[in-house]
Amino acid sequence: MARESTEEGAEFDARIEVAPNSEEAQVRPASLTEYIGQREIVDNLISYIKAALLRKEPLDHILLSGPPGLGKTTLARIVAHEMGARFSQVTAPNIKRPGDLAKILSALGAHDVLFIDEIHRLPAPAEELLYGAMEDRSIDITVGDGTLANSIQITLPPFTLVGATTRPGDLTAPLRTRFGIPFHLEFYAADDIERILTRAARIWKMQPENAATRAISRRARSTPRIALHLLRRVWDYVLADSADLQKQVTAADAERAFERMHIDAEGMTRLDRRFMLSIAEHYEGGPVGLKPLSAILAEDLATLEDYVEPYLVRRAFIKRTARGRMLTREAYKHLGITPGKGGTGELWG
Ligand code: ADP
Repeated sequence: MARESTEEGAEFDARIEVAPNSEEAQVRPASLTEYIGQREIVDNLISYIKAALLRKEPLDHILLSGPPGLGKTTLARIVAHEMGARFSQVTAPNIKRPGDLAKILSALGAHDVLFIDEIHRLPAPAEELLYGAMEDRSIDITVGDGTLANSIQITLPPFTLVGATTRPGDLTAPLRTRFGIPFHLEFYAADDIERILTRAARIWKMQPENAATRAISRRARSTPRIALHLLRRVWDYVLADSADLQKQVTAADAERAFERMHIDAEGMTRLDRRFMLSIAEHYEGGPVGLKPLSAILAEDLATLEDYVEPYLVRRAFIKRTARGRMLTREAYKHLGITPGKGGTGELWG
């Protein structure tokens, strides 16, 4: 594998989020027909939505799980669109007290879709309030203070909760079982990523060669958000260098951009490589837990757990065992090092 260049580059960060009104928001599919891949989920949703519309009832509550950037938020918005319902969204860590959630729930109208992102991070008292809201559409709230405090029951209109989580295992059983429709989103096949890129390129009025789209897809870690982000960055470099809005993006343009972003042939970022190299160099290939790795890399545990590890496991570079993470032969091959022979020096060089 090529050594890292030491120049300060625009290192790629997979944790990028989609800002509202950003270019990435422009390419968010609005309907199920525009949503690419995840066929099984889409087919099931079509039936459930059809049935719910015929019954004139809201859809059952939906739980979407899977790594970041695979299209959970997009799907939640599409559900609202297809049901002709209003959509509102909140991220669980922003709900500090049950009162915050009670306010959101009592503002819901009939058949609204409420999307709660990172639902595994809901504080326990708020989660308990949600049980009643999901099951009986009723919540108990306390008004007033001290001896004058009074508990009143509020009945909510029929609504659909869509919860999203990157950590389905962290959900409590009472919460998990209240979702009638659980879906797990899978990483995307390469040709689906290419279709997502081609569609975005058309909306953004850029002209990538097929070979360029393929090159980007190969490095997109099977994740739509990363694919779109890479396409934008490649386009930035091409435009900045050519000042020609009509310029066709070639595979060579894409390769040059990847080099500048320190993304290797498998789409591994510098952090991915440091993660694997620290297992090789400090733990002779493992097994090792994520906590010590987080300390060595000076990276948050959640970043490693949500953004780094899932794709490495899927790519078979890392194996999760009961005793910890282990580097596979495939990873050693990719890193260009031999097990037991130490590292490349890249880790700290
Ligand atoms: P998540 O909520 O799982 O983190 P998002 O729904 O925000 O992921 O998706 C990230 C981006 O990828 C969105 O802006 C959307 O444009 C794109 N995207 C995700 N899934 C699809 C898909 N199936 N088809 C087309 N574009 C998609």
